[in-house]
Parts: sequence; structure tokens; C-alpha cells
Amino acid sequence: MTQPYRITLLPGDGIGPEIMAVAVAVLKAIAPQFDLVFEFQTALIGGAAIEATGQPLPPETLKLARQSDAVLLAAIGGYQWDNLPRQQRPETGLLAIREGLELFANLRPATIFPQLIDASTLKREVVEGVDIMVVRELTGGIYFGQPKGIFTTETGEKRGVNTMAYRTSEIDRIAKVAFETARKRRGKLCSVDKANVLDVSQLWRDRVTAMASQYPEVELSHLYVDNAAMQLVRTPKQFDTIVTGNLFGDILSDEAAMLTGSIGMLPSASLGAGGPGLFEPVHGSAPDIAAQDKANPLAQVLSAAMMLRYGLDQPAAASKIEQAVHGVLAQGYRTGDILSAGTQLVGCQAMGEALLANLES
Ligand code: NAD
Repeated sequence: MTQPYRITLLPGDGIGPEIMAVAVAVLKAIAPQFDLVFEFQTALIGGAAIEATGQPLPPETLKLARQSDAVLLAAIGGYQWDNLPRQQRPETGLLAIREGLELFANLRPATIFPQLIDASTLKREVVEGVDIMVVRELTGGIYFGQPKGIFTTETGEKRGVNTMAYRTSEIDRIAKVAFETARKRRGKLCSVDKANVLDVSQLWRDRVTAMASQYPEVELSHLYVDNAAMQLVRTPKQFDTIVTGNLFGDILSDEAAMLTGSIGMLPSASLGAGGPGLFEPVHGSAPDIAAQDKANPLAQVLSAAMMLRYGLDQPAAASKIEQAVHGVLAQGYRTGDILSAGTQLVGCQAMGEALLANLES
């Protein structure tokens, strides 16, 4: 009998439950086609967890996640929790699960779907053929460095502090993931830092450069983050794989997202040294359109495909899901965020049904 995969589902807040329902239906449809068995367990995170337990990441959720083969997350957050103390905010739950699962590498593809080129705000000739993988360091850097906090100085003035710090071991392990990723792609790696100003970036640059000799088939280049931000919108096709720290990666991966026309199309994978990976869309909980059947579920569905490819080593099933996404786009189905002239507006559920029809064909 086929060994079941234990999948922890974290629907979270806002549009999370709607898009998760579509992804689960897709996984259920694909399972018998590839002789896969999934055991789904749903757990709380973010605002939903705060309401039920007072904590954004209840210990039971982390325990369940650790015991599973992969974790599929939708999104967390909402206006109603924005004024809580930081420790009780939904975002704290997200940072805590990444830390708890030791997910130090975040892989964010920004790939242009040919059918959506006109949804990009950039010119067709600039974005056509864009296929970038941003490898972002996820558990270090300024989001975690100490000291941090808002302190009162001797004169009574408030002073906010965060610390950008990386140890060599943290740089080396993310650089390794990046070189290996680039090697499986087109063999080009661009490391992004701010080494002209920041000491932490100089160390980053030195370590990445030192590792290059182990990967002679990968062509390494370096860019300062301000230049990288500019180049990404100027000639994005020059990039294959980008590796960068937590803060710069947060910003650049959203910028890369815009090249593709919609944040509703972008999946991500977060991987650790062992244990389950976490797979989630790049976008947030979109509270402005929650519970209105307007959400684009495709980033969530593509995250499930990344889970199959990178988390469970089931590339054929992953490809089938990706083909179904291409299929619905080719048939002209669009949620509001990617709507263009001559295409058909559908809701989140109808998009899910169209995907299922494509998977059956
Ligand atoms: P957002 O990504 O939720 O929304 C930005 C814009 O994109 C909104 O107009 C939204 O309607 C639209 N959008 C996002 N996903 C979409 C989808 N699947 N289909 C259609 N349209 C979509 O970012 P935000 O507005 O800055 O943040 C909203 C909440 O989400 C906040 O509480 C924030 O903290 C949280 N957030 C969570 C994550 C996460 O869970 N990983 C990431 C970013 C933001």
C-alpha cells in the first residue's frame, strides 16, 4: 500500500480558507492519478489562532507541523489584529513557524505566464520570457538580529533598534542552496547585498565569492541592492537565480512578483536542513476581498505544486498541476486581479472547478 503523506494545512486568515479549499480539492483530484495518498490535518495560525487560543502560533500547530511531511500555508493577517502588541500579532506566528521549522531558504519563482504578459505593468518585450528564482535567506538578518526593540534613551527620547547580522554558517548554507538551485536552472547566480555600506554585506559577499570555486559551472555575479532593484524592472531577463538576505529578499521578491502582473500567481517554498518544508503563496491575506469569492487561488495551487516538487519529490504530479494552471489560463478564465480584455471573469470557486476539469482531461 502507498505510504500516505501527512500534510499540515494552515488556512490562516482573510482569503486563506477560500484558496486553501481549492488547493486541497486539486491535491485530492491528483492523488489517485499518481498513486499518492494524502492525510490532511488542519491547524490554526495567525489571527484565527489568536481568536481561538490567544497566540498566533499555538504549540500544537508547531508540533503537528514538525510531525508532518510538508506544510501548506495560505496567508495570515488582518486589520483587526494590527494594533495588538507585536508578540500577539499574526505576523509573529508566521515568523515563529519559519523559525520553529528552521526554514532558512525561501525559494520564490517569478515566472511569466505567456497568457498573462499583458497583465504586467511593464512592456511585453521587457517581461516576455522572464523566469527568475529568488533565493531569500529567511531566518536571519535584520528581522531576527539582536538587540532589537524600542528603548528610551538617557534624555527620555525613544529609540527604535534592529540589528542586521549574519554568521558565516548562515551565509554558507543559503549560498549552498542558491548555487545548487542555479546549477539546476540556467547556471547564473546573482548575489545581492549592500557591501559598499554595510559590514554584514561585506561578509556576505566574501563568503558567497569563496564558495563559487566549488561550483565552476555556475557563473556568479554581485549587485548592490539599489542597482538590483533598478535592473529588475529595466532588464529582468538578465536574471536567472538571485540570492540575498532576508530584508532585501523580502523587497526584491515582491518587486519580481510585479513583473509577472499579479501577486495572486506567485507560489513559494521554504526549506530547511531536514524536516518538512513550508509552501505558501507570496501574497498576504487580502482582507479587502476576503469572503467575497474574488480571490485568485492559483498562487496557492502552484504552492501545492511546489510542495509536490520540492517537498515530496513528486515532480510528475507537480507538473500536472502546473499544466492545469496553464490550461485554465489558456481557456481564458481569470479572477479579477488578472482580468484583461477578451477574458472571462470567474470567482475563486469557479476557478477551482475549471482546474479540476483540466486535471480530469
Ligand atoms: P496582500 O498581499 O494581502 O494584498 C495586497 C493586494 O493584492 C490587495 O489589493 C489584495 O486584494 C491583492 N491580492 C493579494 N492576494 C490576492 C489573491 N490571491 N487574489 C486576488 N488579489 C489578491 O498584502 P497587504 O494588503 O499588504 O496585507 C494584508 C494582510 O496580509 C496584512 O495583515 C499583512 O500583514 C498580511 N500579509 C501576510 C502575508 C503572509 O501570510 N505570508 C504576506 C504579506 C502580508
